Amino acid sequence: MDDSDWASSIEAKERDACIQKARRYHITKGTGVCGDCHDPVEAERANALRCVSCQQDFEHRQRIKNGGRHV
Ligand SMILES: [Zn+2]
Repeated sequence: MDDSDWASSIEAKERDACIQKARRYHITKGTGVCGDCHDPVEAERANALRCVSCQQDFEHRQRIKNGGRHV
């Protein structure tokens, strides 16, 4: 591998890392679109990942997953 191959492989890796960081940022910031049903999320929930009904659904599923079995 010569220097220019090495440099371009570093460059590609950094570019990938930046793209992933940007994607993560978008996801954590919310996209204004529900991640589950892809409907627009209510404006006051613009940073939420899901619309209200999908969020309730999600929380319900999480509860089942986490607390489904009573100890
Ligand atoms: Zn939804």
